[in-house]
Amino acid sequence: MFELDQLSPSVRSLKPSATLKINEESNQLIAQGKSVIKLGLGQSPFPVPEVVVESLQAAAREKDYLPVKGLQSLRATVADYYKRQTGLGYTSDSVLIGPGSKELLFNLQMACQSDLLIPTPSWVSYAPQAHLLGRKVSYLQVSAENRWQVQPEQLDQYCQENPARTRLLILNYPSNPTGCSYDVGSLKALAEVARRHKLIIVADEIYAETTFSGEFHSLAEFYPEGTVISSGLSKWCGAGGWRLGLMAFPEELRPLQDAMAVIASETFTSISAPTQYAAITAFTPSSAIDAYLDASRKVLKEIAGYMVSRLRNCQLEMEAPEGGFYLFVNFQKWRDALAHKGIESDEALCQRILDEAGVAMLPGSDFGMRPEQLYTRIAYVDFDGSQALSAAGTGITENFMEEYCPRLVKACDALSQWLGDREEV
Ligand code: PMP
Ligand code: GLU
Repeated sequence: MFELDQLSPSVRSLKPSATLKINEESNQLIAQGKSVIKLGLGQSPFPVPEVVVESLQAAAREKDYLPVKGLQSLRATVADYYKRQTGLGYTSDSVLIGPGSKELLFNLQMACQSDLLIPTPSWVSYAPQAHLLGRKVSYLQVSAENRWQVQPEQLDQYCQENPARTRLLILNYPSNPTGCSYDVGSLKALAEVARRHKLIIVADEIYAETTFSGEFHSLAEFYPEGTVISSGLSKWCGAGGWRLGLMAFPEELRPLQDAMAVIASETFTSISAPTQYAAITAFTPSSAIDAYLDASRKVLKEIAGYMVSRLRNCQLEMEAPEGGFYLFVNFQKWRDALAHKGIESDEALCQRILDEAGVAMLPGSDFGMRPEQLYTRIAYVDFDGSQALSAAGTGITENFMEEYCPRLVKACDALSQWLGDREEV
């Protein structure tokens, strides 16, 4: 009835997104009675703040289609939020609401006639989205020595060597998969290069509010005219499944924003009305939201510190993260012992660790690294977020990890044991 060659060429070679696939595989193994610690999908472990849930309940009768660009009062609230954060003059006209930032990122690429420039490593979906649209992807290889940051000279050199192309660059900080971010000095230096070459930069700041220190700066502060901020409710508000994403545009990029609204009007129309009403509460300053963010940052910081120290003790290498819930872990020091066991790629490594140690994680090649570099991404999210949050509200105790994150402790034990077994070979 339908042959594979009837598929559109841009879709034919695509595989399901790695993050979602590992989650389904892990769930299948669990359904078969296997024990799996789920460090694959990067989903917030925390519940949606109670005040936001109450707003959703109160808005359950909102049934009308909403404006394509988003509910006016939500757009105004989001603009105020970014005004406070960046000091820039955002208004409700600057904001676009969509069904997850993933879809907005896709629509932005669709609307903008440009190839895509991304750092390696980057989040799994930027490049496949470009491929779906028949766009070329260029990569800026970043390194652990530079805390995975794009260097201004590197960006400048790329732009000089490729002068003809309009350039769309996506920068994500704190980063998925590394957890690293940019300080003010680096943002300023990148802004200068971007201005010189008239880049359009999507600042994917979906993990901004998870920054452990609570202090965050946006590229938009230093390069307002060319920066689109991308964010949503999925990470800091624990609401991945609510599918609310947003972008904030400068006046200079209004034609791009308007074109995206046309795409929205012909595709998804507008996102769920109750969710948009509830999101107003999420973006309105309140002591409840402050307490929620404060406690979640404390929890994430504690876990990150624990995991980094445990994994470094096993001769694994990684940069200490500043936000988000990821570690980008290198197994190079185990290269020979692993090769001895027939493990020479990151994919084989993840598969064997899943099969033999019951820990699910993703290979670095899903994020653009070469398989033989032996990177893996760990999402440290397999714990009861509600319990951890309420415990952190009264301060992190000494045995917090054992008490509230036993599965993460177990994951470190299992990895350590699995690597120890390799040593005996
Ligand atoms: N950007 C990054 C870096 C991500 O990790 C994710 C994953 N959720 C997204 C964008 C998309 O998030 P959402 O569609 O849930 O807003
Ligand atoms: N962003 C999350 C991750 O990297 C999962 C959701 C997604 O990829 O859409 O694991």
